[in-house]
Amino acid sequence: MDHDTELPAALAQPDTDGSGAVLDGLIEAHGLLEATPECLVVAAVDGRIVFSNHRMQDLCGFSSEDLLDRPVGELVSAGSAIDEGGVGRPFEGTCHRKDGLEVPVEVHLGVVQGRGGRYLVVTLRDVSELRSREAARFEAEAKYLSLVEGIPAITYIDPVDENQSSIYVSPQVTELLGLSQQEWLDDPYCWRHHVHPEDEARAWDEYVEAYRNGRSLSHEYRMVHEDGHVVWVSEQAFIIRDEDGDPWLIQGVIFDITERKNAEEQVAFLAYHDKLTGLPNRVLFEEMLELSIARARRSELGVGVLFLDLDNFKLVNDSLGHHAGDELLVQLAERLRGCTRDTDLVARQGGDEFLLLLSDLERSTGAEHEDDPAFVVAASVAERVREALAEPFTLGGTQFYATASVGVSLYPNDAHDAHSLLRNADSAMYQSKKAGPGDWLLFSESGDDPAQTLSLTTRLRRAVEGQEWLLHYQPIVELSTGAVRAVEALIRWRDPGGGMVAPGEFIPLAEELGLIEAIGDWVLDQLVRQDAAWRREGIELDLSFNLSPRQLWSPHLAEKILGKLGAGDLDPRRVIIEITESTAMSDPDRTQAILAELHAWGLRLAIDDFGTGYSSLSRLNHLPVDILKIDRTFVRGVDRDHDLGSMVQAMVQLAKNLDMTPLAEGIETAEELAFLIEHGCPLGQGFFLARPVLPTEITAIVRGSRTDR
Ligand code: C2E
Ligand code: CA
Ligand code: CA
Repeated sequence: MDHDTELPAALAQPDTDGSGAVLDGLIEAHGLLEATPECLVVAAVDGRIVFSNHRMQDLCGFSSEDLLDRPVGELVSAGSAIDEGGVGRPFEGTCHRKDGLEVPVEVHLGVVQGRGGRYLVVTLRDVSELRSREAARFEAEAKYLSLVEGIPAITYIDPVDENQSSIYVSPQVTELLGLSQQEWLDDPYCWRHHVHPEDEARAWDEYVEAYRNGRSLSHEYRMVHEDGHVVWVSEQAFIIRDEDGDPWLIQGVIFDITERKNAEEQVAFLAYHDKLTGLPNRVLFEEMLELSIARARRSELGVGVLFLDLDNFKLVNDSLGHHAGDELLVQLAERLRGCTRDTDLVARQGGDEFLLLLSDLERSTGAEHEDDPAFVVAASVAERVREALAEPFTLGGTQFYATASVGVSLYPNDAHDAHSLLRNADSAMYQSKKAGPGDWLLFSESGDDPAQTLSLTTRLRRAVEGQEWLLHYQPIVELSTGAVRAVEALIRWRDPGGGMVAPGEFIPLAEELGLIEAIGDWVLDQLVRQDAAWRREGIELDLSFNLSPRQLWSPHLAEKILGKLGAGDLDPRRVIIEITESTAMSDPDRTQAILAELHAWGLRLAIDDFGTGYSSLSRLNHLPVDILKIDRTFVRGVDRDHDLGSMVQAMVQLAKNLDMTPLAEGIETAEELAFLIEHGCPLGQGFFLARPVLPTEITAIVRGSRTDR
């Protein structure tokens, strides 16, 4: 560093008037120079230091002796400031300490006339603390900015004034509102223009109220993004005060809380509504019913409650699947809304049960039903519901007829509070269902509830008497082509009190009670009738039906079966009898004789649920079995589970070796199907291929599968 160049031009002028004695005097009076809080150095005209005070020594670490005669430029450098005639005003410089450190200093230059000539008086002030404070502030500011610009919220700073201007807004304003920072700053009305019109007045009032009173602000409102979509925000702001304690700035953050708000609304909605249909739920219904009763009590009006329950919902779920079931409920909800006045309420109670509330009905207490206007309205709504169900529902491309049983209960005739009204409507519905599906009934005191009073045993006996049965048919498919080769008949109990009951729930009891034979007779008769109907439609399929152990061992089985088939002109070779593996193995000798007889008449035999019993291979080999139905517990996940895969392959192979046709049960996925095809299983059954369905569906499936090919 060439320190000499830093000497001020002022000193370059030769001293001509020989008045250096002034300074000499000052130097002698250096007691004075020591008294100042500044660090002082005095240099002669050639730039060499002639004096330095103690504070200077503190600052630079050099003693006065060290400094004497050294060029002042070695001690202090100040860029070009000194050259530019920096006398009189302070400038920034650096003091080079003895230990090599550099201290930032503020430099004052002065020239004095001494006896021996002109002297340069250099005053230094250590500004290192100031500088580090400034650096810290700068750093803090940078940190603040990175913080402010990193959080998912708009941060703004507004002056406290009435004209809504803004000093700063963080770049998140672009994401939240689709605005540039500049647009926000340029337009003092920008914020107000982007507040949702319905919230604008309130939000503005709250803002003004806060800053006028010097309070912090916390509120929520909606804003509108440039592209039109609505954003819920939460704004928190507080006042920054000036030195006098007066409100000066408002600093605030605006958070996007749209997601939270939507979730809150959703939760609030769901607490009172049914998710599937969007209808009010039971909770809301009861609240409305109570209000309605209170109003009716005051104004001498009537209230009607209709309790509706679908008669055949389980059948939809079982045969068409839950998706179709859901679809039916949605469509039904829509139709029910169409049956009522705007002031009435339609709610979903749960499952396939719906509630209708008819409010503010005229009433005439004590009148006969037919003369009671409340009854007349309720009856007409119940009739309209029935009419609304007369049209078929279209579910996943197929048409489905639904009926509902409805119970009616009226305030004040049948009950005086919401709870009793609902209970009475419910029990009237049960009564109506008992009398036959698809009808409605007004509550009456004397009615009892069969579903609650009768045991399963009694109900099952009645079912046998009343033949409350229904057959579903599940296609048996040739896996490689998808062609329907046969159908398996699967029984359902149409229990008037409890909807559709699956065989697993009553076949074991029917066995125990000795009712199974009667049920089996009905199944076979029905199957024969159905086959005749299909044949009239030009459809001829192999028919499979199930025999439980007691049926198999009932006397004259072959005779009976052949008699029924003959009556319907059904070729026994088209009929397959299914018995489970455990049935086949439980009394092998007896079973073998019976099966041999059936087989001799041309009937085919299938071993059901194969893999779940304990077959002896030699026994199996001696039975006249045509089809081996691999139980669905082996099929589920066969494509993913290596062990299952090996077992199914072995079973397929075993069947083939024993001259039986393997059939995979319970195919539920495309992957399982692909595995079975790949490993040579010729036949299969399962929800993926087709669920058990009503006979009309079989017609449609067969027709569909024929045109497919
Ligand atoms: P099963 O003979 O093994 O009949 C197959 C069962 O599996 C049927 O149940 C059918 O709906 C169901 N199924 C079919 N494909 C799939 C699938 O992909 N996944 C699953 N998870 N299940 C599938 P269902 O109709 O409830 O019948 C149960 C059992 O009741 C039958 O088992 C059979 O042993 C018995 N059963 C049905 N109808 C009669 C009948 O008329 N007489 C007698 N004695 N028993 C019957
Ligand atoms: Ca079966
Ligand atoms: Ca089975």
